[in-house]
Amino acid sequence: MRHKIIAGNWKMNNDREQTKTLINSLNSLSFPQDLRVMVAPSYIHLSDAVEMVKDSNLEVLAQNMHFLNNGAFTGEVSVKMLKSIGVNKVILGHSERRIYYNENDDSLKEKIKIALENNFEIIFCFGEQLSDRKNGMHFEVIEDQLSVPLFHLQSSNWKNIILAYEPVWAIGTGETATPNQVQEIHSFIRTLITNKYSLDLANSISILYGGSVKSNNSKEIFSKQDVDGGLIGGASLDFREFVKIIQSI
Ligand code: PEP
Repeated sequence: MRHKIIAGNWKMNNDREQTKTLINSLNSLSFPQDLRVMVAPSYIHLSDAVEMVKDSNLEVLAQNMHFLNNGAFTGEVSVKMLKSIGVNKVILGHSERRIYYNENDDSLKEKIKIALENNFEIIFCFGEQLSDRKNGMHFEVIEDQLSVPLFHLQSSNWKNIILAYEPVWAIGTGETATPNQVQEIHSFIRTLITNKYSLDLANSISILYGGSVKSNNSKEIFSKQDVDGGLIGGASLDFREFVKIIQSI
């Protein structure tokens, strides 16, 4: 179901104390009923985080997971492991995973499959490189990034999918897509889903934007018709800044 969502991706940041302090601070806030606020700490802090949000509305998600339940995959974490500590949401397809760990449309398709089999909710990230945009290829690239991993799914699976458009050139660079560029892509995505499935389904999906969102640009981005919130990297590590972004939606 379509919601307003602000999700903080803490990546490989925050030690245990920093993670707990940030979660404690976020727990002390009350959010509007129609807004979902999520954070994605490192794997090793997920157990702490799940425990700490038990009585709050804050939601915890993992930053990644493997596409198999178990096996000889040194350093990996499976959906079963996440489930066993009470996590039921995951970010998949982040550009840093695609760039540094060779994730691709086919491996992501496998991850989505096992996530859905375990009734996980997924924030699925995708977005073009700067060269794609310069060559006018961004629409094609985005269509491909969505088609292979997602467009074979049954309509009923989509209730577990949240999309996050994250142009690679805007992630961690300080360069943000303009609100109009974001709206153009989000509207394009709803058209793709309408053509493949239905208008109702397209209108039921939350589509987030990610890429150097800060409190000084969030309000304008979130005001766009097809933008349902944000996936926030760097700015989500700073409590005050993150709260301002949350309050701007
Ligand atoms: C991200 O990592 O998903 C992200 C959007 O990062 P940043 O906000 O730092 O650009």
